[in-house]
Amino acid sequence: MSGNKTFTIIKPDAYEAAYSGPIIEKIESAGFKILNMRLERLDNPRAGKFYAVHKDKPFFERLCAYMCSGPIIVIELEKENAVEDFRKLIGATNPEDADEGTIRKLYAKSIEANAVHGSDSDENAQIEINFFFS
Ligand code: UDP
Ligand code: MG
Repeated sequence: MSGNKTFTIIKPDAYEAAYSGPIIEKIESAGFKILNMRLERLDNPRAGKFYAVHKDKPFFERLCAYMCSGPIIVIELEKENAVEDFRKLIGATNPEDADEGTIRKLYAKSIEANAVHGSDSDENAQIEINFFFS
C-alpha cells in the first residue's frame, strides 16, 4: 500500500524568481494538504547530508553549492498516493523532458535549477520530513 506523505523543497531559483506562490497554489489545487512549511537556508554540509545518495555523482558539488545559494521553502505534504502523484505533478528532472503543465515545465530554469524537489519513495519521504521537521 502506498503512503500518504511526501516532502518538497521550493529550490533557490524558484524562490528567487518569486514562483513560490504559484507553485504552492498548484500543489494545493492538485489536492495536497500542507502539514508543515518553513523558510530555510542550507549550508554546504547540510545540503550534502540531504543529497548524500548523490555524493558520487559528477553533479554533486555543484548541486550542493546551488542548494545553498539562497533561501528555500521546505514543505511536508499529505495526500493519498502522495509520492507518486507529486512526482507526476512536478515532471521530469530535466525541464526539457517534463510534460506540459508540470511544475518543472512551467517554472524550472535547467536540470540543476529545476524549481522543486520531490521525494522518490515513501521511505525517503519520511526520512526527508524528519530531516527538516523534527
Ligand atoms: N541534478 C543535476 N544534474 C543532473 C541530475 C540532477 O544538477 O544531471 C540535480 C537536480 O537539481 C535534481 C537533483 O540533482 O533535482 C537530484 O537529482 P535526482 O536524480 O534525484 O532528480 P529528482 O529526483 O530531483 O528528479
Ligand atoms: Mg531524487
